[in-house]
Amino acid sequence: MAFKCLGCDGVFDESRSDGTLYFHVCPPLLEARVKRNGAWLFVGLGALQATDTIAVLRAGERTETTIALAQPGDVRLDDRATPRAAGVHRDENTAPPPPAVEKTPPKPRAVKSEGAGRAPA
Ligand SMILES: [Zn+2]
Repeated sequence: MAFKCLGCDGVFDESRSDGTLYFHVCPPLLEARVKRNGAWLFVGLGALQATDTIAVLRAGERTETTIALAQPGDVRLDDRATPRAAGVHRDENTAPPPPAVEKTPPKPRAVKSEGAGRAPA
């Protein structure tokens, strides 16, 4: 059965194709650093505009280009990942179990045969 996360809109099943369980965790929000109207700012990847200037790694050199003029192989630089707000971020992993603490010390194990017994030497 598929579920949709209301925090990140991710769609997932509770189990994977190999039968193991999947515990969803919202990914961080990715934002690109762009120069827009003369100022550098971070915008969500869905809000990029063709006229935004970005820094890219092209042929091993850092350079600036607009989104419209970016070339295949350009690697956008200066992106940032921001954790989602606490009320939005979902993490289905469970808390670790409490440490196993023995409430009573283990009982001494009986020897197989006491024989004649023993005494301090
Ligand atoms: Zn999510």
